[in-house]
Amino acid sequence: MIDLLAVTAHPDDLEICAGGIFLKAKKEGKKTGLIICTRGESGGYAQQQTREQEALHANGLLGLDYFRHLDFPDAGMFFGQEAVDALIPLLRECSPKILLTLHRDDYHPDHVAVSQTVEAASFVAGLKKHSQDGSDWKPKELMYFSGDLRTNKRGPDILVNIEDVYEEKLACCAAHASQNIVGHAERLAEWFGYLGGCKYAEGLYLRNPLTLNQAGSLF
Ligand SMILES: [Zn+2]
Repeated sequence: MIDLLAVTAHPDDLEICAGGIFLKAKKEGKKTGLIICTRGESGGYAQQQTREQEALHANGLLGLDYFRHLDFPDAGMFFGQEAVDALIPLLRECSPKILLTLHRDDYHPDHVAVSQTVEAASFVAGLKKHSQDGSDWKPKELMYFSGDLRTNKRGPDILVNIEDVYEEKLACCAAHASQNIVGHAERLAEWFGYLGGCKYAEGLYLRNPLTLNQAGSLF
């Protein structure tokens, strides 16, 4: 079972938006996983092979326990049955406790499509019919991250202080050398840090109210 799973559109989405959260989760002994829906072949001038190599490099730095790379076309992914069906067995395979994906208010149509796909697939994957052993599964929480604060005007619901892993997060972003994303990641982390009263942070958006089982989680 994976504790924290992200489903993204492109090889660098996670590192920009939530790389610090993944690094922290790993240091806290949690199992982390990533499913990337496209090979990123339309991003910048890089070839598909280059982006795949960069993704593997970054995944190694993140220390992922689970990784799958799907073959939907970059800048050509759409919400539909094919994408939902591709995701269902992978969600059942790793049965994540917390599921993260891109916020649907975003300039990039692939990001929107992935967000919708994850919502539908996580619902259908929770039906017993899709379980080999009849076991129940649904994530404790489905949350979103966002790298496009021009389109997504909502403020984050949760801010995670990433000061302790900030340099490692930037190294993960720099692993995607063809995409020149470090400056973007720095500005996002500074803005979320400003909102959170710390130096650097990452933001998460809730779908439903967050339920806490221990009062200690408030402190
Ligand atoms: Zn992207």
